[in-house]
Amino acid sequence: MNRTRAGVAQLVERNLAKVDVAGSSPVSRSNPFPAREATSREFGFAERGEPAVISVQNLEFHYRKSGFSLHIPQFAVARAEAVAVIGPSGSGKTTLLNLISGVVVPARGKIRVGNAEVARLGDAARRAFRIRSIGMVFQEFELLEYLSVLDNILLPYRIAESLRLSVEVRERAKQLGRRVGLGDQLGRNVTQLSHGERQRVGVCRALLTNPPLLLADEPTGNLDPSNKGRVLDILFEFAREHGATLLAVTHDHDLLGRFDRVVDFKQFQQAVRPEEEVEP
Ligand code: ADP
Ligand code: MG
Repeated sequence: MNRTRAGVAQLVERNLAKVDVAGSSPVSRSNPFPAREATSREFGFAERGEPAVISVQNLEFHYRKSGFSLHIPQFAVARAEAVAVIGPSGSGKTTLLNLISGVVVPARGKIRVGNAEVARLGDAARRAFRIRSIGMVFQEFELLEYLSVLDNILLPYRIAESLRLSVEVRERAKQLGRRVGLGDQLGRNVTQLSHGERQRVGVCRALLTNPPLLLADEPTGNLDPSNKGRVLDILFEFAREHGATLLAVTHDHDLLGRFDRVVDFKQFQQAVRPEEEVEP
């Protein structure tokens, strides 16, 4: 396909805004941390004795345009825990992940991830937090179609100025690719891959920064049963090896047995009686 430079730039902007995998805002090219890289330690992940990696309290969020509102009285995920949140389509699962990763900001309430109060961080700090602390896996993969498998895996390092693409990072990307069975396909364009293979690229991209927290948005939603198992294996193996926390949202009940805990969206509504919902 013939693309103009402006067209390609637009496509990149759109995809990166959507992917936001590395959390780098495509519109801001100024480097928020010019002197050094932000580390996940700064957000408290490396400290011991932290009771919950994710802690949500009295959360309220509204989309003005659609009128949808989300209220979560209390929700917490412990370090190294693997939790699935279930709920029907439209219940707010993606919104919850976007709130936790700071893509959207609540009207009220607290969201703590590690030591970071996500909603209170400024834009640059929120991007740095996402880049260093969160690996995001998407239902629709969100790959850049004109890039190779390897370059898609490397995407966080290509779009985030606070991450330096080094020989070691490239080697790690290749290792991840090989580990998920894509060793022979690293140079291929992602459009030549099957759905299962594409999602494995998406998972490698999420793992490349060694994030202490993995957020997976229906990560197996578009996959057949054998690929579902494979993608989950990769996520769970990584989480176990790195002591990472895994929070997946899904409406696929077949997957749930593998998680330490399953939280139903309905429980959020039941957790607090109406008269307790009013904040002092
Ligand atoms: P789920 O992931 O559980 O399917 P979502 O979090 O995507 O649900 O969406 C919850 C509700 O919010 C839906 O009714 C959806 O239409 C609405 N919604 C999602 N994104 C937006 C947006 N950017 N603006 C307005 N409404 C939205
Ligand atoms: Mg969703």
